[in-house]
Amino acid sequence: MKVLFLNPPSFEDFDGGAGSRYQATREVRSFWYPTWLCYPAGMLEGSRVVDAPAAGIDVAGTIKIAKDFDLVAFYTSTPSFKNDIRTAELIKAQRPRTQIAFVGPHVGVLPEESLQAASCIDLVVRGEFDYPIKEVAEGRDWDKVAGISYRRDGKVFHNPDREVVHDLDALPFVTEVYKRDLKVLDYEIPWMLHPYVSIYTGRGCPSRCTFCLWPQTIGGNTYRVRSPENVFEEVKLIKKYFPEVREIFFDDDTFTAHRSRSREIAKLLGPLNISWGFNTKVHVDYDTLKLMKDNGLRVMVVGYESGNQAILDNVKKGATLDQARIFTKNAKALKLTLHGTFILGLPGETRDTIEETIRFACDMDPDTLQVSLASPYPGTVFYDECMENGWFAPGTLVSEMGYQSCNVQYPEGATAREIYDGVERFYKRFYFRPGPIGRILKKTLTRKGEAKRVFHEAAAFLKFMTKRKELAGTPH
Ligand code: SF4
Repeated sequence: MKVLFLNPPSFEDFDGGAGSRYQATREVRSFWYPTWLCYPAGMLEGSRVVDAPAAGIDVAGTIKIAKDFDLVAFYTSTPSFKNDIRTAELIKAQRPRTQIAFVGPHVGVLPEESLQAASCIDLVVRGEFDYPIKEVAEGRDWDKVAGISYRRDGKVFHNPDREVVHDLDALPFVTEVYKRDLKVLDYEIPWMLHPYVSIYTGRGCPSRCTFCLWPQTIGGNTYRVRSPENVFEEVKLIKKYFPEVREIFFDDDTFTAHRSRSREIAKLLGPLNISWGFNTKVHVDYDTLKLMKDNGLRVMVVGYESGNQAILDNVKKGATLDQARIFTKNAKALKLTLHGTFILGLPGETRDTIEETIRFACDMDPDTLQVSLASPYPGTVFYDECMENGWFAPGTLVSEMGYQSCNVQYPEGATAREIYDGVERFYKRFYFRPGPIGRILKKTLTRKGEAKRVFHEAAAFLKFMTKRKELAGTPH
């Protein structure tokens, strides 16, 4: 079977693809690589990955491409599910024998509901989909493919679960598929050097943050890892295939979860003389940071989440504000760049805790910042808590434009509107200070090619804020 791996078109600039944790249109154009789709694509000759939002391909263009394929694997998300069904229906109408598979956390958590929602969906994969899709594409009887749910003769069947993949070294290098099917210039993250490439060196996260989608739906709570040598070989390949790439990002949930391994990888990367970064919690010690910095580490995405300890405890972050302070101080002493991520609207949020978090963020003063709205995705403990406690507010996870909406509220604490408005206040209070303004100016003046990029980002950010204001009048 010829297989098309599709991140379908949805909202404008919607990063809902198989690499994006928060599926929404971001403040500034941001696209992660559709890495999860590229693993099975790397195992199937004649397949193709199309990342429609990043490549700017619309629905009509997508339908045209799909006509040559026997199986289309859609990466779907909770916010884009309805739109994705419409695209799938058009593909099915054009060529009824094309089979449609939906993959991703949403259908993994709600297989029965997803198959009942649209007759154009032939099967869904629950959990990791590398081998299930490969087996389907190779013609295995569907009743023998573990981990899928499917429709036959109008009835829905659920096969037994499938073990997660343990031997990650056995998987292909996604870099081969990036080279074959994607354009590195389509991918951009504001706080990363451009162009960048991101890959995973492992799957899963040992932490159990109640709001976090990936470990609770796809990756699991065991950090399964590739060998350092295997990672090293792929990084060399990235250098060879994409000499223009200025930064490599290890997009594991928490790259530093196995500290000794992250040190080993760093030592291998050192001689390659590249700039790299990763996602981390605030638990990494000074010596490890220093060793990594000495071997090319430039940027870290740090999940601070909140400036209120009770909220961190409520969501089982497994980190303290003091740890955050020490980590930040050490990272700054080493001149590492920090992109801090925060969430407003987690359980326990009040008007006061929003203020506390804004003050804490200004105090930590990361180089750049991302403020997200708490999003209760099906399959997370947070979602169940919202159901049990009546915390859902009217509205959806994203607006009709793909922007994040606020659909949680706390009767004893913050309203949905206070949480939503808190995001804009947060950005303004953080960025309209001499420190961040000075850093942006310095970046513009000292890095070649950055002035244009910063200008575009600033314009996109202002457009985003205006749109948010317009949407503030609608229920959220
Ligand atoms: S540490 Fe990060 S990736 Fe891991 S569960 Fe918590 S939020 Fe998710």
